[in-house]
Amino acid sequence: MSDSPIPVYVDTRKAFLQEGKISGEVSLDRMPRFQDSLANKAGAVHVELSFDLNESKRRIISGHLQAEVEVVCQRCLEPTAIALADDIKLALVKDEAAAEGLDSGLDPWICEDHKLDVAALVEEHLILCMPLVSYHQKGECISRKNYVVGQHNAGGEGQSDRAGENPFSVLKSLKKSDLTD
Ligand SMILES: [Zn+2]
Repeated sequence: MSDSPIPVYVDTRKAFLQEGKISGEVSLDRMPRFQDSLANKAGAVHVELSFDLNESKRRIISGHLQAEVEVVCQRCLEPTAIALADDIKLALVKDEAAAEGLDSGLDPWICEDHKLDVAALVEEHLILCMPLVSYHQKGECISRKNYVVGQHNAGGEGQSDRAGENPFSVLKSLKKSDLTD
């Protein structure tokens, strides 16, 4: 099995038998819990996974993920782009009991049947490597841009003053016409 696009489910029997590799994009739509922590649906998640047996005949899923997504900046509450990257190394087991029997240093991924949900595995890693809080780069917050816009408006103050005079003069002329009537 050569590099192929990420399927929704990987048949783990086939993947380990062929010592397969997969790489490609995983849609954010398939990671609802991760998406909840994002500012929007913009971005992409790329993953590469290999399926190999180790020397103790354990089924090992290893690889790497990279994501570029947008989260809410905790300073200005506008979206800011962040990059996430993580290595993946998991032992595929069929239940909790098998997970407990793993050598130390191997994290289990429980898959009861032969259908590995790749998005769920990637989502779990992404959630773990999310920073607790994110900010724009220094000086790039949206509030700073608003401040610049505010100054620009201040320059046009004369305009609003003139606009403010008009209702009064209209009022005055109304009063005058009231009196003359
Ligand atoms: Zn910001």
